[in-house]
Amino acid sequence: MTGRLTFTPTCLRAAAWPGLLAALLAGAPVRAQQEGAERIVIPTERFRASESAAADAPDESALGSGRRFNYEGFRAEMLGVWFKRKIFLHKGLAEAAAAETDELEQLCRDTGVTRLDEISAALIHEGNAFLDEGNFEKARCSFRDALRFNQHSPEAHFRLASTDWRSGASLGGAVKETVAGLKATWRSYALSSAALGNILILALLSAAATAVLFSLAMLVRYQVLVRHDLEETVQARHPGRLPREGLHLVGWGLVLLPLLTWIAALWTPAYWIALTFRYQKARERAISAALLALLILSTPVARAAELLFGLASDPGSRLMLTASSGSYDPAQIVALEQVAVANPGDAAYPFLLAGLYARGRYLAEADAHYRRTLEIDPGHYRAWNNLGNLYLTAGRPEEALKHYKSALAIRGEYMPALYNSYLARKELLELKEAEQSLAEAQRVDPDAMSALMSRSEVEGSGEPIDASIEREEIFARIVGARGGTGQVFASLLSLPSIMATLFLLAALGLSVMAGARQANRCVRCGEPFCHRCKVGDRVPDYCSPCQHIATAKEGLSPSIRREKITQSERFRAAQIRLGRILSVPVPGMGRILDGRTLTGGLIVAAWSASLLALALRPHLLQPPAGGPPRPWIVMTILLALAAACAWILGNVRASREANAPAGAWQWH
Ligand SMILES: [Zn+2]
Ligand SMILES: [Zn+2]
Repeated sequence: MTGRLTFTPTCLRAAAWPGLLAALLAGAPVRAQQEGAERIVIPTERFRASESAAADAPDESALGSGRRFNYEGFRAEMLGVWFKRKIFLHKGLAEAAAAETDELEQLCRDTGVTRLDEISAALIHEGNAFLDEGNFEKARCSFRDALRFNQHSPEAHFRLASTDWRSGASLGGAVKETVAGLKATWRSYALSSAALGNILILALLSAAATAVLFSLAMLVRYQVLVRHDLEETVQARHPGRLPREGLHLVGWGLVLLPLLTWIAALWTPAYWIALTFRYQKARERAISAALLALLILSTPVARAAELLFGLASDPGSRLMLTASSGSYDPAQIVALEQVAVANPGDAAYPFLLAGLYARGRYLAEADAHYRRTLEIDPGHYRAWNNLGNLYLTAGRPEEALKHYKSALAIRGEYMPALYNSYLARKELLELKEAEQSLAEAQRVDPDAMSALMSRSEVEGSGEPIDASIEREEIFARIVGARGGTGQVFASLLSLPSIMATLFLLAALGLSVMAGARQANRCVRCGEPFCHRCKVGDRVPDYCSPCQHIATAKEGLSPSIRREKITQSERFRAAQIRLGRILSVPVPGMGRILDGRTLTGGLIVAAWSASLLALALRPHLLQPPAGGPPRPWIVMTILLALAAACAWILGNVRASREANAPAGAWQWH
């Protein structure tokens, strides 16, 4: 078969041996001749010669170009230049070293390489050493060079910011580089998906912790009323059936019901929120409803976080995402080759590899991998299209057209193949057919075609359209392999979500059905009262005795009056003590208890989130690769500061003053 190219590992290895040997030779003078810079001879020309010899070698390839992907050879050459640079630097010959860096960049340009992670990392390492010495100028130079070999390296940006900051050169520069570093971090998909997974898990856990604490506060605030209403309802239905102690027991039984069985104990917070919902203030109801809604969503969120973690930890998925990013690092090809060998039945890997090879202008390898893709999946119309492009670029429009026809046989309205057929036919001087293809392409996707035509007017037409895999597609594919977004939504039908929904419905139902005639707490003495046991409504917030004391000043025995006043003082003192004591372990609790719901709730949430983040820090949080110098310490300090702020906020004025007016106790 004329079009097929052979690419065997043996020929790659054979080509690599002289390169490796030379690399060793290049490394030898580093150790042997460190005294005389002028005596160092690095035979880089030899690699050049071997490469050009390979290029000139007779080749059966239909694509003409004999340029072969030779990773070992490239690596050897790269290392040669790198060692040379290192020696110049060691001798203090900064300009000569800089020239070698330029040489390395030129080498990348010649071979179509757009990024070298290894070199970039080495330069950052070098810059760090300069930074520790306090040599800011050299450090800055190293970090800038690191960006030349990986322009999206977050670490290089962060280190540059750190240099600017420490040298005091420019605050603006430091801020600019930090922003660039954060952008680059966001860009590196794998890292940000792990970060997103972390944030989801943390948000979920702190919402759960807040829900538990909030439900406890609601129980403390309203359990008296829940029991009062229950006891009076039972009493009204079955008068005299139960003694007073029995009624109390029934009341407490209802409040502590889920704790009686260990399975239901998990649902205690949701149960308490539902039980006290009808007694809550409007703000408390809003928070309660939000917390129950979060519980409903907790399973899908946990599922999404799990997917993101899987994505971040699976090297195959990460490689796919980087391979589709448009950059070309030879090391990436080697890693992707290994994954492709491990997954022989997956057409996506050879297709991505072929794209990478084509980007580096290694047409023979690209051809072989597109054919491999088609062997696995003969219906891969994108591979047919791109294969055609290889032939068109090699000046063989006739064969290119055949491949486009194969693509169009599978998918008749595939715009790139239609447009590419137009280009091929134009070259074959089949002008009439060319016009037909163009008209067809224009019919299929007029917007894309008009954009293409206006571009070709500027740059000149002739570049065929390559089909590529979009990042979204890869993402969907990886997520799909693990169950997919459908499963995230399907997990809404799981037991936790259904239970939480039932609790939310029960809470709403109770408050609607029971109406507004529920028990209230006297703002003066704290005793519960309801429409059944209160006489008169001249002071709506007071219980009967307190109302009586407040309105009918005469005709009341001094001993009863004194007793009632002592009772209300005791009640207030107990509330203040409770608020202060609970605010020590859980700042903000005192505020929720006396009705400052919003600030209290926020402080509780901030406290539990920062404590959880601190505790889970070693397991969950991943600092961006080389953010600030000691990311763990910085993160710990920041989280501890947040926790300390929450604690102080929650403990300043943890309770209302003892002499606060009666209305300040916001019971309803
Ligand atoms: Zn009272
Ligand atoms: Zn009552």
